[in-house]
Amino acid sequence: MKVYADNAATTKMSQTAKEAMMPYLDVIYGNPSSLYSFGQEAKSALEEARAKVAKALNADPKEIYFTSGGSEADNQAIVSAAVMGARKGKKHIISTKFEHHAVLHTLNKLEKQGYEITLLDVHENGVVTAEEVAAAIREDTALVTIMFANNEIGTIQPIAEIGAVCREKGVLFHTDAVQAVAHVPVDVKAMNIDMLSLSGHKFHGPKGVGALYVKKGVALTNLIEGGAQERGKRAGTENVPAIVGMAAALEEAVAHMDENMARITAMREQLIEGLQTIPHSKLNGDRNRRVPGTVNFCFEGIEGESLLLLLDDAGIAASSGSACTSGSLDPSHVLLAIGLPHEVAHGSLRLSVCEYNTPEEMAHIIENVPKVVEYLREMSPMWEDLKKGVKEHVIQ
Ligand SMILES: *Cc1c(COP(=O)(O)O)cnc(C)c1O
Repeated sequence: MKVYADNAATTKMSQTAKEAMMPYLDVIYGNPSSLYSFGQEAKSALEEARAKVAKALNADPKEIYFTSGGSEADNQAIVSAAVMGARKGKKHIISTKFEHHAVLHTLNKLEKQGYEITLLDVHENGVVTAEEVAAAIREDTALVTIMFANNEIGTIQPIAEIGAVCREKGVLFHTDAVQAVAHVPVDVKAMNIDMLSLSGHKFHGPKGVGALYVKKGVALTNLIEGGAQERGKRAGTENVPAIVGMAAALEEAVAHMDENMARITAMREQLIEGLQTIPHSKLNGDRNRRVPGTVNFCFEGIEGESLLLLLDDAGIAASSGSACTSGSLDPSHVLLAIGLPHEVAHGSLRLSVCEYNTPEEMAHIIENVPKVVEYLREMSPMWEDLKKGVKEHVIQ
């Protein structure tokens, strides 16, 4: 059995998305900026896609800008807010310690340019509170950027409450909603969100395409200069097939959200029930405040990379930390942010499931993970020390 359980890294494209894209990979190949009909057909498809994305977020189509993905959207949102803030003498930005690197590395860069960055601590349950955000806001705060749902542990932040705090204090609020859009309800108006990033390949759309929602009146700064595409804010001929595919995938996901959430949550619960029986294991992040499909466990005495390789032999595709950090042996910054000690953070496993998975596949995972964990522990000097009582268990 082959089980793909790494949907937080990327997803399989939906049939709907592929079919929607086909004409734009074939006969409707015009440039949307061209005035003849080849171009105008592409242009209509682009605007139809924009309307679909806007509708999914409860935004206006004029508030949607297409990008090359979630990373670009995060970069552009943060840089824009920084530029706007600086004009008013505001150079303080608030975020959290467990953001995606697309956010954290952008903030690092701004810090070197003289901005002051406050990274809030995250509680052990994987959540920051609106009160903590409120307490960090200052006269010179230009932006609050806090992710909707964490990509490694799946926990959801109190976005509506944080949005309300920011609106009340007159501070811009951006959220990296790449793991949330199409998976849980998102409403930019009800949640007082000023800017939001999303990415097509995290919800069965194509890779290399995303969008940035920007509330009317918020000024964007270009990352890419050139033509007047995207209302002059993002130059470059639009990736029409990908944009059409992303919008189709999003429309489909939103139409089936309730049933998908129920099905995926049931599989996640099956995983949690099955894996928490492993001795000295721990579910990371709040049990319930999470996106339907993502769970993250730590198993004491083992090393995540070896776990992944052996699971791959059992046909299971999973992840340890985020794909962006694997390959380096540093433990995940997310797991450290929620307070796990280094040696425990190394032994982590992220499983992320989607509506294409089945309960039988969950059973396959539940059968194999304990075996692999036991096998690795038998060979682990760390586990030996724990068994002998030379070292104390961190996870009971
Ligand atoms: C995947 C991801 C991104 C990056 O999106 P890309 O489209 O791959 O650039 C950003 N933030 C989060 C939370 C993600 O999960």
